[in-house]
Amino acid sequence: MNIEQLKVSVINEVNSHRHQLAELSLKIHANPELGFQETKAAGWLTRYLEENGFSVEPGICGLPTAFRGSYGQGKPSIAILAEYDALPKLGHACGHNIIAACAVGAAVAAKPAIDQFGGTILAIGTPAEELQGGKALIAERGGFNNLDVAMMVHPAVVDTATTQALALQRLEVEFFGKAAHASAQPEMGVNALEAMLLSFTAINSLRQHIKDKARIHGIITDGGEAANIVPAHSAATFLVRAQDDAYLGELKEKVLNCFVGAATATGARLEYGWGNIRYASLRNNLTLAGLFSQNMEYLGRKMQPTDPNHIFGSTDMGNVSQLVPSIHPFVAIASPEVLIHSPEFAAAAASDAATQGLLDAAKALAMTVADLVANPELVTKVKKEFEKQND
Ligand SMILES: [Zn+2]
Ligand SMILES: [Zn+2]
Repeated sequence: MNIEQLKVSVINEVNSHRHQLAELSLKIHANPELGFQETKAAGWLTRYLEENGFSVEPGICGLPTAFRGSYGQGKPSIAILAEYDALPKLGHACGHNIIAACAVGAAVAAKPAIDQFGGTILAIGTPAEELQGGKALIAERGGFNNLDVAMMVHPAVVDTATTQALALQRLEVEFFGKAAHASAQPEMGVNALEAMLLSFTAINSLRQHIKDKARIHGIITDGGEAANIVPAHSAATFLVRAQDDAYLGELKEKVLNCFVGAATATGARLEYGWGNIRYASLRNNLTLAGLFSQNMEYLGRKMQPTDPNHIFGSTDMGNVSQLVPSIHPFVAIASPEVLIHSPEFAAAAASDAATQGLLDAAKALAMTVADLVANPELVTKVKKEFEKQND
């Protein structure tokens, strides 16, 4: 088969599995599981891979709901990544059910390309994308070693091949003051809530002097017990984000100083801890993005240029993209006014448009695998671009 015929057979593979893939997506959607608790989703996905000739290793890198399915052997080694965690209360408001079904669908559909040209196709299950950074842990533990390419597709409201995602680290802070009657003896108290409010004010002042696209946002998780008691304890969780890892380091120090200053001002004692997981910024491999775009356009989807001002929060795919040439394109499943991480997006993730999006994205990913295994010079080009970014 020439490459055109091969792509047609890849498309037919996805079409012949469309009912199973839609069912897989809807089943995961109907059974939302939080990060590292995705036992049902991991079970269904690995079963699909096994039924379709993949050898599957569950629980890779010490993470019970992670997995690696592989088919073929040798180079190139191309991974398609699945996410399947849900959000508290909102369920699949990030549409990871679509990522999951799309990933295994694409991996299975790529088999004819692997059979003809060799190489290995992997479907890697990466749990807990939302805040717990499953891919960061898998990366640390070597789960992405020896890959030539890593790809995944995330649902969104627009079709784009590249995106920006920020480096991110979480900060937990607590202030310890001294309780007292808020009216009878306020002078004896040390107000831990005021220390927290002052920190928010200091961060608001800092915000006008930080680089574009950096983000600092937090919530108070403990603000005291009763209005007539001087709060002896307060707590907050913050997320600090920046466009690159170096500026994240700089910004972290500035943010921390806001809390240190508030502690000095109020006399409350500060305790803090940075989260163990640091999300890296996303590096788009433009060679891969170009191949993916062409394949999406072939399927009749209109790819939009990436808006340089738009940022998609942060993703642990960033950590993968620092190690392996990667793409994290978007496939539209809803109209532009629908907000991601909202109940409306959760509903959209189970719609017909979502199923169509996952099938198209699975086809385009598998066609991109076909491009890569059929043309070793493309893999070289992808790697050269990646190495250039490292310089
Ligand atoms: Zn999300
Ligand atoms: Zn997501």
